[in-house]
Amino acid sequence: MDYNKLANLLFPQIKKTPEDYERIYPQRNLPEGAKVTRLGPSPTGFIHLGNLYGAFADERLAHQSGGVFFLRIEDTDDKREVQGAVPMLIQALHHFGVNFDEGATMNGEVGDYGPYYQSQRGEIYQCFAKHLVSQGMAYPCFMTEEEIAQVREEQEAQKLNPGIYGAYAKCRDLTFEEVVERISDGEEYVIRFRSGGDSQKHFTVVDGVRGALTLPENDQDVVILKKTGIPTYHFAHVVDDHLMRTTHVVRGEEWLSSLPIHVALFEALGWEPPTYCHTTVLMKMDGETKRKLSKRKDPELSLEYYKQEGYHPQAVREYLMTILNSNYEEWRIANPDEPVEAFSFSTEKMSNSGTLFDLDKLNDICKDVLAKMTAEEVLRYMIDWAEEYQPAIAALMKDDPEKMLKIFSIDRGGEKPRKDLIYCRQIFHFISYFFDEHFVIEADYPPEVSMQDAKAILNRYFQEYDEADDNEAWFNKVKEMAADMGYAQKPKDYKKNPDQYKGHVGHVSNVIRLAITGRTNSPDLWLIQQIMGTEQVRGRIAQAFQDIG
Ligand code: GLU
Repeated sequence: MDYNKLANLLFPQIKKTPEDYERIYPQRNLPEGAKVTRLGPSPTGFIHLGNLYGAFADERLAHQSGGVFFLRIEDTDDKREVQGAVPMLIQALHHFGVNFDEGATMNGEVGDYGPYYQSQRGEIYQCFAKHLVSQGMAYPCFMTEEEIAQVREEQEAQKLNPGIYGAYAKCRDLTFEEVVERISDGEEYVIRFRSGGDSQKHFTVVDGVRGALTLPENDQDVVILKKTGIPTYHFAHVVDDHLMRTTHVVRGEEWLSSLPIHVALFEALGWEPPTYCHTTVLMKMDGETKRKLSKRKDPELSLEYYKQEGYHPQAVREYLMTILNSNYEEWRIANPDEPVEAFSFSTEKMSNSGTLFDLDKLNDICKDVLAKMTAEEVLRYMIDWAEEYQPAIAALMKDDPEKMLKIFSIDRGGEKPRKDLIYCRQIFHFISYFFDEHFVIEADYPPEVSMQDAKAILNRYFQEYDEADDNEAWFNKVKEMAADMGYAQKPKDYKKNPDQYKGHVGHVSNVIRLAITGRTNSPDLWLIQQIMGTEQVRGRIAQAFQDIG
């Protein structure tokens, strides 16, 4: 068979040669050891935590080595494509601190290795498919879906490996004349890779995360171009990662099983494969069992969830770093104030079996990250979030920024800052009692205090409250009131002699706390009242008095 003739028959329109593309996309001029990485998302509109996890790894590998990190849009499957998905993706990643040097951007494409949309690279893929055909390493296959289904059935019955390979690859050895005839009969065809591999034989490849892997050779004549001329993922990423000069491919472990195909394609094309780094899937504890995070069951798999809830991107990044590299946490403890970039990231320290994603741990990290921020930073962050997700709350906060700064300054700074703030939605709830529109009583009066006493406490407090009292003078009044009403002035006195008292000062002050904040747990009550001002304090007390009836 004259393979050149076959190649020209199948791809008459392709005039460029592989050498042309090698010239158009030369080796990158980068320092020794610089890594080139890419994110290759499909624009399905759903961006998940796994994308961000991988993106952080890519970003670190490229940037800490003086290399390049680019964004390639893998949009060959237009059935799954969602309008507007690309800008959404770029913005979401940018929000979490992932910025690309090259590729698809909000303002078109940037870089010398484009197009960066696979849908615009049709001619390039066809050129390399043509090349493989001309070398006898790819061929047109006319098998119909029915024929393929029949093969599958036969293989199942005989307990053989499924797929189109060896004798099952019915169009492997068609003559040139047969091909011409079937094409002129209008039969549709795909282009298949002619595999020379033997699944009984093994080869070794070094994975960046998993080390040396011994895998069976690929023996499948996989499809490289579909009937429409559009490439499969296998072929497209091989061609792209070669021409875009990618050195490290970080991708999910779901691709591990097709690695032999990819290695075989690189070999057939005479190219050096990149270092593949297969990351693990993110798992979570569901009761006692560990399972994969699922799009259907776990809203926290979607990146949008963290934006909507108002997780600070720095905290999300910090948390993902702790699960990306096993030595990150230790480094962070030793270097609390260093930027993430100062950490030396390595693929060898990545987990290679089910990474556990733990929302509680993320929340703890948020507390630490927010505790380090200034009140101004917290306020700005809260307003940015609220403007997008809760405009009425944004307006409230902008109405009195001075008060907001006081609120966010409560126990901030100093040796032991309070760690109450986690993410915007929670933060707003945490401080919501400062706003009459959002104030609700969320707890009950302490059982040690009768309703009658509660009324009496509120009544006397209403008379005696004086904004000018300092914290000590204020608390002395509460203590006096407690003593007058038969409550111990010190909790320990009550604990020692519970029969002598109705309760203690804490119970009395909790009646006031409940009236003011709606909760029995809050930061320093005196400080809260100083921020609220007399009018609001008295209003709350009067309201509580009335509510008791
Ligand atoms: N488009 C593929 C995906 O979304 C990319 C895999 C890769 O990074 O090679 O899963």
